[in-house]
Amino acid sequence: MTEILSFNNVTFSYTPDEKEARKAVQSVTFAVQEGEWIAIVGHNGSGKSTTAKLMSGLLFPEEGEVRVMREVLTEENLWKIRSQIGMVFQNPDNQFVGATVQDDVAFSLENNGVPYAEMVERVHDSLKQVKMEGFLNQEPHHLSGGQKQRVAIAGALAMHPKLLILDEATSMLDPQGREEVLNTVQALREKIGLTVISITHDLEEAILADRIIFMNDGKKYAEGTPSEIFALGEELIAFGLDLPFAMKMTKLIQAQGVQLVGQHMTEEELVNDLWTSNFNK
Ligand code: ADP
Ligand code: MG
Repeated sequence: MTEILSFNNVTFSYTPDEKEARKAVQSVTFAVQEGEWIAIVGHNGSGKSTTAKLMSGLLFPEEGEVRVMREVLTEENLWKIRSQIGMVFQNPDNQFVGATVQDDVAFSLENNGVPYAEMVERVHDSLKQVKMEGFLNQEPHHLSGGQKQRVAIAGALAMHPKLLILDEATSMLDPQGREEVLNTVQALREKIGLTVISITHDLEEAILADRIIFMNDGKKYAEGTPSEIFALGEELIAFGLDLPFAMKMTKLIQAQGVQLVGQHMTEEELVNDLWTSNFNK
């Protein structure tokens, strides 16, 4: 396994002079391997966005180290490293910089001096990856939220990043837009082995990840596979997270005295258990 990103005891506060100031991120340590899909979950203000900014050198740690592709992120290598990281943020309307879809995707390429012919090719390729190749000359206001976020992902992909960071990229979308974006990310992982770090307070989305990092009050509270994290059950609720639908449903059914084995992260698991444990009796 090849490490692509790691935090080693990273601490950061926005007001470092204040003695009693609560740290936005405190002594956080974790590592991400190439090709993984990591979800970072936690309540509002738990330090997720600060963590994302520390990953891409928009902020620098007060203590500890951030390594990207095994190199400690510094002011010197910042631009080289940042060119390998794609970021997509929450608000689809705030990240559109071009007048048309193709201008938007070309923006960073142009800024990085990519030759014209190559630029055209990369714009087409990356729009194809997100299934937006039919929208080249469309203006942003003609697109749905999900389509805008897919164009934002294409803009990131055009730079051929090693790592894609999504900071609540689906949180302003309707269910269809959310599904479009998540399907896009999933397809990219399978096709080009992209490493994905997706920050979300939606546990439904976190189920899809290989591993979940659970943040609370600036600290890493827990880390594990989705089933390990969901096994925390009540603790997740206590820290302001909304359990996936199937898990809530499982609890309600159990409260009615129906025997169900274990926890069910997806509706499919729940339905299968209902069939085997209850209707075969
Ligand atoms: P999350 O993304 O999980 O909602 P953030 O990383 O945005 O959390 O915030 C972590 C903490 O840092 C919160 O207490 C928040 O109020 C504080 N914070 C975030 N951004 C700033 C800022 N620009 N200036 C001062 N404090 C901030
Ligand atoms: Mg945030």
